[in-house]
Amino acid sequence: MLDFSMTIGGRQVAGRDVFAVHNPASGAVVGHAPNATLADLDAAVAAARAAFPGWAALPDDQRAAACAALAGKLGEHAEEIARLITLEQGKPLGALGSRFEMGGAQAWAGHTASLSLPMAVIQDDSAGRIELHHKPIGVVGSITPWNWPVMIAIWHILPALRAGNCVVIKPSPYTPLSTLRTVAILNTLLPPGVLNVVTSDDRLANIGAAMATHEGIGKIVFTGSCATGTRVMQGAAPTMKRLTLELGGNDAGIVLPDCDPAAIAEGLFWGAFINNGQTCAAMKRLYVHDSLHDAVCDALVAYARTVPMGDGIVEGMALGPINNRMQFDKVARLVADAARDGTVLLGGAPDDGLFFPVTLVADLPADAPLIVEEQFGPALPIIRYHDVEEAVAAANDSDNGLGGSVWSRDADRARDIALRLDCGSVWVNRHGAIQPNAPFGGVKRSGFGREFGEQGLAEMTELQTVFC
Ligand code: NAD
Repeated sequence: MLDFSMTIGGRQVAGRDVFAVHNPASGAVVGHAPNATLADLDAAVAAARAAFPGWAALPDDQRAAACAALAGKLGEHAEEIARLITLEQGKPLGALGSRFEMGGAQAWAGHTASLSLPMAVIQDDSAGRIELHHKPIGVVGSITPWNWPVMIAIWHILPALRAGNCVVIKPSPYTPLSTLRTVAILNTLLPPGVLNVVTSDDRLANIGAAMATHEGIGKIVFTGSCATGTRVMQGAAPTMKRLTLELGGNDAGIVLPDCDPAAIAEGLFWGAFINNGQTCAAMKRLYVHDSLHDAVCDALVAYARTVPMGDGIVEGMALGPINNRMQFDKVARLVADAARDGTVLLGGAPDDGLFFPVTLVADLPADAPLIVEEQFGPALPIIRYHDVEEAVAAANDSDNGLGGSVWSRDADRARDIALRLDCGSVWVNRHGAIQPNAPFGGVKRSGFGREFGEQGLAEMTELQTVFC
């Protein structure tokens, strides 16, 4: 049994109560995580506040070196943590699964360690000198989802620490074990209190909600659903907390008529089905020109049939189960509805347990729930269009605006259309390919703020303008 403790002020804290974490591939209990009380959260915030002056006062190059060492530590423990991710999240070890996630975590940590925000002089003349300084905020509260548990934790933790803040992280109750273990490992290199973790299934208290309102936390970085993001924003208002909200998406891909269906099928497939579609910036609606609609459908079906799905801990799988029952039921509802109004090209009926087959549905009306709602699972609607203006309008007809993509042999034309999509990131001839030096975040109800690169690091700071 994999039972882990919280790390609070550098100590391992078992908690008064625990909750079970299940393997979505089998339903078996993987291990237990502590169920934090509000007193545990207070202790974690107090430890972070106590550690903050020392951590913030470290010379910048020493903090950079400490963060680089954290990246190295993640590399040393990558296989151990990858197995934990697979056991509690369900994604396969190989392919674009948990080893890939750990590679990403290490790459993001390493790149973030190398970033800096030097003081800028914006005026220096006979009238005076004006300097712009980035200063850490204090305690950053991180709240993470279950889809990429460790990579997203690293996206929150590393820039916060690099900028001189201390952190309290709360992972999803579906995937707490990999974060508990990661934080314990990173703590071997950090002063006590700089990085703390609390876990909860919300039975004793809603710890995420308590973090949003907590007087001792200066900023929340939240990745999760739009509904919870709204609650975080409401909770944060009275204390005027700084916020980065990375929320849901309903990304559209647009295939222009000059594409070769066979050449783009693999890219389209993984753009939509990476991590079983349980990815914020996965393609969730695919608009294909009438002239090649049927050929793209055929090519996607043919490629999808080659992708093995099964228990992720067995080498050779490329897709695993859906992570949890609530998400499974949502996908099942959307697909059952789509099957009534559209043509199911592949999949459709749930398999055993939480396994849901790759599902492709065509001929749906524009207002079908599978098109309008974020499915966050392995089901893709393919929508025929006749005129690119119609496709751009449909892509933009969404409350979300996380990502989008345009597919064409004419890169300039694709870029021109890409610029017209209302979303924070847009790709040409690929989808969802994020990287640590390129700012990422949403527009409209997909949230606000940016992660990654200098812009992401700056969001972990307050600006101070000094008139010398
Ligand atoms: P969720 O909103 O249900 O949960 C996210 C986190 O919030 C969990 O840790 C949860 O315990 C916590 N939480 C629950 N109630 C809370 C409250 N009242 N206040 C504060 N925190 C609370 O999301 P999820 O189901 O874990 O993740 C899936 C969603 O996340 C999808 O919508 C997906 O698109 C989105 N997501 C977005 C990004 C991005 O970068 N934009 C990345 C990954 C996932």
